[in-house]
Amino acid sequence: MARYTNPVCKLCRREGMKLFLKGDRCFTVKCAVEKRNYPPGEHGQRRSKPSEYGLQLREKQKMKRIYGVLEAQFRTYFEMAARQKGVTGENLVRLLEQRLDNIVHRLGFSASRAQARVLVRHGHFRVNGRRVTIPSVMLKAGDVVEVQPKSRELTEIVGAIEGAKKRRVPAWLEMDAANFKATVRTLPSKEEMAIPVQEQLVVALYSK
Ligand code: SF4
Repeated sequence: MARYTNPVCKLCRREGMKLFLKGDRCFTVKCAVEKRNYPPGEHGQRRSKPSEYGLQLREKQKMKRIYGVLEAQFRTYFEMAARQKGVTGENLVRLLEQRLDNIVHRLGFSASRAQARVLVRHGHFRVNGRRVTIPSVMLKAGDVVEVQPKSRELTEIVGAIEGAKKRRVPAWLEMDAANFKATVRTLPSKEEMAIPVQEQLVVALYSK
């Protein structure tokens, strides 16, 4: 499976904002955005007024990077969102939120979505009682996610849970922390999916 393998902090610097791609490091002074808040590269500190297309492209790149999805798969999500009833931009974010790797991260079982993907691929989670190793599996209301019993003392998971104690689990997920388990109560509402991206610009870009 194709995946992004270059330095991820460059992605945040390119977008001019923290995308929280590296877990705990993102909350420290070592964060590259804290140290060098300008785009990477030789001409990174040059300022120019972005075009309308440039603004739309940046919003699309931000959304892809936050959820760790590559272009072809992201395009597929957009097409699915456009076929659904309702507002395409909201549908798109909702589809991305439904991915198993995102839900594992939202529950605090991983320090980042990238780590969630690795943990899922290594078989540390069950969905509705069955081992699942595909991070892009889409969950729906009523699905139950749990950490495999033998994985509950795994350093990465224990560390992530500790680190996530200050984070709030979204209301659309019902956490049973004592049993390393959670239920998808409902799909997230617009307010519950707040990410720092103007999704209407992504829709405008793909609708040309
Ligand atoms: Fe982005 Fe985290 Fe790197 Fe900061 S530390 S630049 S938030 S990935």
